[in-house]
Amino acid sequence: VPAARIRNFCIIAHIDHGKSTLADRLLQVTGTVEQRQMKEQFLDNMDLERERGITIKLQAARMNYKAKDGQEYVLNLIDTPGHVDFSYEVSRSLAACEGALLVVDASQGVEAQTLANVYLALEHDLEIIPVLNKIDLPGAEPSRVAGEIEEIIGLDCSGAILASAKEGIGIDEILETIVEKVPPPKDTVNDKLRALIFDSYYDSYRGVIVYFRVMDGKLKKKDKIYLMASGKEFEIDEIGILAPTQKQVDELHAGEVGYLSASIRAVGDARVGDTITLSSAKSIEALPGYAEANPMVFCGMFPIDADQFEDLREALDKLSLNDAALHFEPETSSAMGFGFRCGFLGLLHMEIVQERLEREYNLDLIITAPSVVYKVITLKGEELYIDNPSRLPSPNERQHIEEPYVKVEMITPEIYVGTLMELSQNRRGIFKDMKYLTQGRTTLTYELPLAEVVTDFFDQMKSRSRGYASMEYHLIGYRENPLVKLDIMINGDPVDSLAMIVHRDKAYNLGRSMAEKLKELIPRHQFKVPIQASIGSKVIASEHIPALRKDVLAKCYGGDISRKKKLLQKQAKGKKRMKSVGTVDVPQEAFMAVLRLD
Ligand code: GDP
Ligand code: MG
Repeated sequence: VPAARIRNFCIIAHIDHGKSTLADRLLQVTGTVEQRQMKEQFLDNMDLERERGITIKLQAARMNYKAKDGQEYVLNLIDTPGHVDFSYEVSRSLAACEGALLVVDASQGVEAQTLANVYLALEHDLEIIPVLNKIDLPGAEPSRVAGEIEEIIGLDCSGAILASAKEGIGIDEILETIVEKVPPPKDTVNDKLRALIFDSYYDSYRGVIVYFRVMDGKLKKKDKIYLMASGKEFEIDEIGILAPTQKQVDELHAGEVGYLSASIRAVGDARVGDTITLSSAKSIEALPGYAEANPMVFCGMFPIDADQFEDLREALDKLSLNDAALHFEPETSSAMGFGFRCGFLGLLHMEIVQERLEREYNLDLIITAPSVVYKVITLKGEELYIDNPSRLPSPNERQHIEEPYVKVEMITPEIYVGTLMELSQNRRGIFKDMKYLTQGRTTLTYELPLAEVVTDFFDQMKSRSRGYASMEYHLIGYRENPLVKLDIMINGDPVDSLAMIVHRDKAYNLGRSMAEKLKELIPRHQFKVPIQASIGSKVIASEHIPALRKDVLAKCYGGDISRKKKLLQKQAKGKKRMKSVGTVDVPQEAFMAVLRLD
């Protein structure tokens, strides 16, 4: 296909504004997916995505479209995730496109993620086409929302398309506008090959499958390719398009999007962001890669069964190929044994990785509470970055501790401003700005310690605003604070996986709530189990779990076999998620207790 008849675009939107539904309609109307194969959110093909109704991984699909000018066009759609944790995925898809559909829910309006995504799209010089979705809803106010987009983003909305992805309204107009407004890719088919890897995953038969956009030149089966960052060479076994499932073709040209396999066995050899070129033209300049995604939240992951350690390593290896933002390295804990310290973009990212490891790789894991990365200046003047609270140098080895701060922008209906300010203040927030947008909608800007945001700030914001507020945050740097290490002891032994770094003013209350929560969560044993919270050698809270008096089964005297069985099953199920810390069985929930303090 000549470049002039290709359009590469993505859809950007705040979560739930209708990206995936719109993608479905586009696939349907262009006949890319046959009616009988169509299921909702076709591109969200991970089980987890379908269950949670969110898009995690970007997905690509190629459509053929006959426009009103009588010409056949190839439209490559790249779907992007909308959640705050996944903006890294968004910027990857943008680099492979020339245009973007900006979908805004006409019954809601501009949200924090709408803004964040539009700024990313503008950075990549994309042509932006505004689409006001959900106009079928009685509460839809397309002209108010169009005004909001013009006012806040400064984007001309006179040509904004009124659509309902659900009812199929405006879909033809969207397709025509893509053809008209999105610039075709540059026709550089005669230049030397350069293709950008924007995604990849591991297939146990074919090895690494690479998704790429050809920027210059052409690529065909049997070509010998050179991956510029990894310095590795391969021969292409298979090349094809995503239509939307994989379909082999002979050749792909500048501007086209496709996949390839080349018996790439080592997961590190085909990194996202790398440039593919031909072995015969190694000296060419690489395409600008992606910025490294820096994990912001770390936690320990330990197999419940120590024999699964190697399986866990392999699974993390494979997942990290598909997920460039996931970091991990081996960790040994005195309480938990061998495991990994893993880094994530945020809490949702962490949860998703945990679930994928357990479902797709059949692992049973214990996860420890999330921590941010602290900067410690030692007495010798060294700078240490500490992502594991149990590794914090002792007070007589350090000058001070700094913690990461983020700028948080919330967009909320005016009536929730008070409660969101209270929330931010409770979390050590520093008020920066408040602006009225349009008709009762307000932006609130705070600077907050990241540690206070990554716990349950997002959930709190949602529940305090009945789901109406949205947020977006980015790192602004490190600041010094009086931080201390809070240790938890169970049965007299400090449990390294429960250690926390907290603000001095909050340590006392936190220690007390932790001890109370652990008392609730840890089951009774044959012996009394003391629980203590301490700072240095000073115990600040103390509880104990009384010993079990009788055998639990003693209650089910004699005959009632089925009841006895049920009880045993219940115990067995409870056991599955336990880790022995010394002689005490500690359930998974206990390690996350800090997230569930009221
Ligand atoms: P995404 O998070 O942006 O991918 O949003 P989804 O496509 O998953 O849609 C979120 C919810 O909005 C789903 O329940 C959809 O059925 C619904 N939805 C999407 N488009 C429309 C629309 O045009 N009208 C109405 N009434 N609902 C829609
Ligand atoms: Mg979606």
